[in-house]
Amino acid sequence: MLDTMYKRNNTHQPRSKTNWRNKSRNRFPTNRRRFTGKTIDVNRFINKAEEAKPAEAFQPKYLFDDFQIHTSLKKTIARHGFSKPTPIQDKAIPVVLAGEDIIGLANTGTGKTAAFLIPIINKILLNPQEKALIVTPTRELAIQIQEEFLTFSQGLRISAVVVVGGANIQRQIMKLRALPNVVIGTPGRLKDLITRKALNLTKFSSVVLDEADRMLDMGFIDDVKLLLSLVAKKRQIMLFSATFSNEIERIVNTFLVHPKKIVIQSRDTASQIDQDVVRVKSGMNKMEMLHDLLIQSQFEKVLIFSRTKHGADKLSRGLCQRGFKSESIHGDKPQNKRQRALKMFKENAVNILVATDVAARGLDIPKVSHVINFDVPATYEDYIHRIGRTGRADQKGTALTFIE
Ligand code: ADP
Ligand code: MG
Repeated sequence: MLDTMYKRNNTHQPRSKTNWRNKSRNRFPTNRRRFTGKTIDVNRFINKAEEAKPAEAFQPKYLFDDFQIHTSLKKTIARHGFSKPTPIQDKAIPVVLAGEDIIGLANTGTGKTAAFLIPIINKILLNPQEKALIVTPTRELAIQIQEEFLTFSQGLRISAVVVVGGANIQRQIMKLRALPNVVIGTPGRLKDLITRKALNLTKFSSVVLDEADRMLDMGFIDDVKLLLSLVAKKRQIMLFSATFSNEIERIVNTFLVHPKKIVIQSRDTASQIDQDVVRVKSGMNKMEMLHDLLIQSQFEKVLIFSRTKHGADKLSRGLCQRGFKSESIHGDKPQNKRQRALKMFKENAVNILVATDVAARGLDIPKVSHVINFDVPATYEDYIHRIGRTGRADQKGTALTFIE
């Protein structure tokens, strides 16, 4: 339990007049899932981070130079500052290069993106007609994957287009006319574009479902099934996530052909993250408790999760009134405002971001010191993904969950 006896610092800021409601065009079906948070054993929110011992430093079987990939791709990887593969990259890249279907399961923040992007870029270098489809549950994740794609494909004459909801569809249709090698998108918008005959998947022979379990969750399953039924008959399907359920595995087996399953979870999920609970006793004010945490100096860059869109807005506004620098991100905000809030947090213009689960999956935000679950997540999988926004790429992180 945390000691919250710190001095207050109450400066006031004007109340935001913006009202994001009635603007919902979002397809992220956060509210369609059953809320089961109350049933998660509280002890699962408590865990001391393991000290990484130097002797335990991971020794990959391969170096990037050892992979059968194009020299120019090796150069962009080195330029990006990756000196050796992470465990999932070490195991998955050879499998993907061999053209096999794959299920890649590895902790949050361990480099799954490059594990599929590097072999895909290599395929395209070998065959400029090659087409890849990357499907993600959120718009922000699609944009982030494109950014990573651009760093690896710099100067290689390979094109990628992002197609997500909340952005101008005509512009996306124009970009698709140039027949890009890679299309990165969210299921709803991809489906829209197919219906409008702006996107034809028949030549797409590589498909990635990033955050695969989320993609095959009830809100997305039908759209994803449709996409998979439209891609090339001879195709390679790649599923990546930090969590996977048996139930989903059954569905997966109908789409994939003899998939190689690679599981990198030698230690506990999220072993780099100190996890603890903050107990809210009756009569205690959660907002005051949060305030007392946030004024502590070690709470440098904090991602706070709220269960509802309205709650996220209200909490962020309340924090601003108390003098904190906070933004919010959730599905009722227009896409440009969502992207702007994320950018401000990434670039440290604000040090607090209040989010719904729309920000729980896949986002790679540098140096998030703390994740705070102001509301208990709906499922333990959601918890793993939420806290996985801190403690990424060998960094340490802290996650706190308010328990009422
Ligand atoms: P995941 O998808 O597993 O959650 P990401 O692909 O988002 O993880 O990667 C997490 C972070 O680790 C990113 O900032 C990425 O640039 C970095 N990273 C990935 N692979 C390597 C590597 N081989 N060497 C150093 N950093 C890496
Ligand atoms: Mg990822």
